[in-house]
Amino acid sequence: MSTKGQGQGQGQFSAGALRGAGRGVVDHRLSRRHLVNEFRRGRLRQDQICDAHPELIRAARNVGTESRSACPICQESTLRLVTYVFGSRLPAQGRCVSTAKEMAALNQRSDDLTAYVVEACIDCRWHHLLRVLPVGGSGRRARTGSAG
Ligand SMILES: [Zn+2]
Repeated sequence: MSTKGQGQGQGQFSAGALRGAGRGVVDHRLSRRHLVNEFRRGRLRQDQICDAHPELIRAARNVGTESRSACPICQESTLRLVTYVFGSRLPAQGRCVSTAKEMAALNQRSDDLTAYVVEACIDCRWHHLLRVLPVGGSGRRARTGSAG
């Protein structure tokens, strides 16, 4: 079996599996809205944007917290939020954080860590990065509460 992908692969889960991560995207809401619009205009097929990594879907189902918004694609399911923390001395595929206590512990670390909050639909497999937060490090300025 040969795949036509560009070497991206669906192998190990990593920050690269989180759409919107990297590439200097500053406003994740903007890029999300853009994708949703393109889908509604028929310029993107559902399978092009609903391609969450199985690992992400499993995390969303098991430890994800329910968000208040419905899935913008299938509009049937409520989106779930999953937080991954990446950084040195953490697994390459990130640490999936499901409790505030766990997040607080990571925030105590002296390493500079980065938390990625991702929304995912366990029905149609839509996923998108919502925000990126600094965790731990010298600043220890991450707000783990619901402010904002
Ligand atoms: Zn959906």
